[in-house]
Amino acid sequence: MAKRTRTSKSPKKHPTLAAAVKLRPKLVQWRRHLHQYPEPSMQEYETAAYVVEQLREIGLDEIKTGVGETGVTCMVRGTKGRKTVALRADMDALEIEEESDVEYASRKPGLMHACGHDGHTACLLGVGAILAGMGSKLPGNVKLIFQPGEEGAGGALKMIQDGCLQSPKVAAIAGLHVDTDTDSGTIAIPRGYVCAQTDDIDMTVHGQSGHAAAPDKGVDAIAVASQALIAVQQFVARHTSSTDRKLVTFGTIEGGTRRNILADSVNLEGTIRSLEPEGREAILRFLKHDLRKLVGAMGGRLTVRIMEGYPPLVNDDPIVDAVEAAAVEIAGRASVVPQNKAGLGGEDFAYFSTEGEIPVAMVHLGIRDEKKGFTSPGHSTTFDFDDGKVLPIGAALLAQSAVRMLGG
Ligand SMILES: [Zn+2]
Ligand SMILES: [Zn+2]
Repeated sequence: MAKRTRTSKSPKKHPTLAAAVKLRPKLVQWRRHLHQYPEPSMQEYETAAYVVEQLREIGLDEIKTGVGETGVTCMVRGTKGRKTVALRADMDALEIEEESDVEYASRKPGLMHACGHDGHTACLLGVGAILAGMGSKLPGNVKLIFQPGEEGAGGALKMIQDGCLQSPKVAAIAGLHVDTDTDSGTIAIPRGYVCAQTDDIDMTVHGQSGHAAAPDKGVDAIAVASQALIAVQQFVARHTSSTDRKLVTFGTIEGGTRRNILADSVNLEGTIRSLEPEGREAILRFLKHDLRKLVGAMGGRLTVRIMEGYPPLVNDDPIVDAVEAAAVEIAGRASVVPQNKAGLGGEDFAYFSTEGEIPVAMVHLGIRDEKKGFTSPGHSTTFDFDDGKVLPIGAALLAQSAVRMLGG
């Protein structure tokens, strides 16, 4: 739990932060409940039901369920203005076995909230409570979007296709993600590129089996696949622009049946990450055409399947401006930092921009705390954060961002 050591010396809190701090026990309770009952992508049934139950308890009742299968939306209406903006939290967990002895550790074997989505959902519930408490001071309407399936299933796209940005029409959307590289309590503001385009790749190198002692009588698929792997990395490093940010990683390779038989085929699975479209197009062209010729020149045959993933996430400046202004109001200038280096992770929040066609901003909420030992990376078995400290900041940041996006 967070220790409160600065209460008497602190400068006066922004009213939205004060409201979030008051909610701290609730925020922690929500997050820890969700943490104990994680559900995988697109199976967030209990999570969605819990979200609805808590929204009702807050006093909000304009709720839609089953949006994009397991998504939930909730309208918070202000009395002034007609504009509607949205805030998004993702709800899904990961197939990871948690290694932790905290009392709120996952109670579901093999499942864990290891990316902080439990915290995001708790923050958005907190936003519901804060905005509901603003009454006539809320300068427009805010749609809370509780999204399923961020971890690969594209839940954002499913919700958009199911109309989550319509009736009433949403003008802009913001969201946050916890960030293990940024100090706890600091808010990092990315501009432009935030996350990469993701494409999955399945590749099979076909050879011809034969005796290990007579490689010239067959085609050694392992030898050909080795050349193909090196060629891919060499192409990326030597034949694409050094200013484009992109990479190819193969995470699995398998082939062959016995040490003295030439492998008949080798299967590889990988992922392509890119920011600028030029780098991505060059890699796809190489994989589909030139690499095929190269494998052919060694007597093999190549089949390549590319599965298009999330588009790149690009923040829109006017919305980032609104969120940054809110961040400074909530956390103070010293705790708000620019974040100029986009990572090559993927984030389906990008669909709100590309498919939803509205301006977006995703910002990062620091959770790294060396002193308290919160240093484990996302998607690791020991991931955790100081929820008592971080969640009030996250909830206040999102609530105030909505106010700013509405022009308040
Ligand atoms: Zn994740
Ligand atoms: Zn995540």
